[in-house]
Amino acid sequence: MKLDYKKLWEDALVEIELNVSRANFITWFKNTSIVNEKNGVVYLSVPNIFVKEWLLTKYNKFILKAIHSIEPNIRSIEYVINAQEKEDDGKKNKIISPEKEAANNEQLGFSDFNIDKEVNLNPKYTFDSFVVGSFNEVAYAASLAVTKNIGTAYNPLFIYGGVGLGKTHLLQAIGNKIKSENKNAKIFYTTSEKFANDFVFSMRNNSIPSFKEKYRKYDLLIVDDIQFFSGKLKIQEEFFHIFNSLYERNGQIIFSSDKPPKHLSGLEERLRSRCEGGMMVDIPKPEYESRLAILEAKVQENNFSIDREILEYIALTVQENIRELEGSLNSIIGQNKIKGRNLSLNEVKELLKKNSKPVKRITMGQVIKTIADFYNINEKNLFEKTRRKEVVKPRQIAMYLLRQDLNTSYPYIGQKFGQRDHTTVIHAYKKIKDSIKKDDKLKDEIENIRLLLYGKSV
Ligand code: ADP
Ligand code: MG
Repeated sequence: MKLDYKKLWEDALVEIELNVSRANFITWFKNTSIVNEKNGVVYLSVPNIFVKEWLLTKYNKFILKAIHSIEPNIRSIEYVINAQEKEDDGKKNKIISPEKEAANNEQLGFSDFNIDKEVNLNPKYTFDSFVVGSFNEVAYAASLAVTKNIGTAYNPLFIYGGVGLGKTHLLQAIGNKIKSENKNAKIFYTTSEKFANDFVFSMRNNSIPSFKEKYRKYDLLIVDDIQFFSGKLKIQEEFFHIFNSLYERNGQIIFSSDKPPKHLSGLEERLRSRCEGGMMVDIPKPEYESRLAILEAKVQENNFSIDREILEYIALTVQENIRELEGSLNSIIGQNKIKGRNLSLNEVKELLKKNSKPVKRITMGQVIKTIADFYNINEKNLFEKTRRKEVVKPRQIAMYLLRQDLNTSYPYIGQKFGQRDHTTVIHAYKKIKDSIKKDDKLKDEIENIRLLLYGKSV
């Protein structure tokens, strides 16, 4: 697989910037880029002979170290003056066809063998493995009711709640149950992101009619995490039509989201009122008893042996969500296996303390890509000198997040975004920071971008 040179260099620069003075950084790293890589040698393009000499004598080790820490295969660096990147792979297409995506996943060994590609359901998510406590019993009951009266009981069913509280599990359980009881039912599970990707792909390929055809034929359509539809009006509109034609044929539709429809900013009014016209249930955070019950169920399900005292300790301290409960349990079980004995309560306390700050390292490239995807624009546009409204806002948000979350310096951000002055960056940063306080829609959008980046809100 070809390396993403641009991203590799951006990531390395973030590392390098932390370790050299501002003035040096701007002087010596301006207009540099990785243009090729072959057999562990990275070819770095530099603007002139002085920079080449300087980097080679003063910074070579340092640059190599930064790149090596990201791409361990890289062993040395060649400096070339003003080289162009070779376009040997042709133009990269941002939108990957769904088939290609599936094939890629397969090659990389990411795909879960058990997932039926036709319906996208993972058989491990069932009602049987779903623990019901007081926090989620309403959502559970509504979900079960839907499986008994498809398209009539609650349509659409809208389940909302924070990350890791069991929305996807429930949605998939509904799909699996209906599938096992109605062999002919046409069922499809997707996420709003996949739906959007699918839509954009068919638009580019002039295959919108077959896209519509595909979605309108389902008896049960499940769309997970629809908060990511926020602001994507064109896609929402398409979705609304599909929704209506399914609804009129009594097709069942199920949504999940991190908040109720009325708080989903950027959701078109008619789509919102459709959602509110069905059944809405939320899954709040589980209380202590439910947390303990879930842990006990997981232990039993997997035939682990863990002292009750330890389970109680986890239930007491890990309060945020079920995914974190599972994560804590798994790391304890992992340690038990490695050590060949069960950890003591004190050891468990230490371990959980260590795990409690999961700081995920995010790169500049990831921030930019996520924002571009989120606003449906090209990454390139973000760097252009344009005042187009569709670009200005995402660009300001990018600058804001790079500063706020990644602690990137203003001049460096300015340099990356088309050699802008650092005062422009400061202005953008302040503007977003102030606007968030007044503008709920913007606040939501940024929250969603962070959710995409970190897998949780910050
Ligand atoms: P969400 O979609 O709300 O972010 P998930 O459905 O992905 O959350 O749940 C996170 C993890 O917790 C999954 O592994 C899921 O199987 C597990 N989980 C969630 N709720 C329950 C439950 N009530 N009983 C058992 N496992 C659960
Ligand atoms: Mg989910």
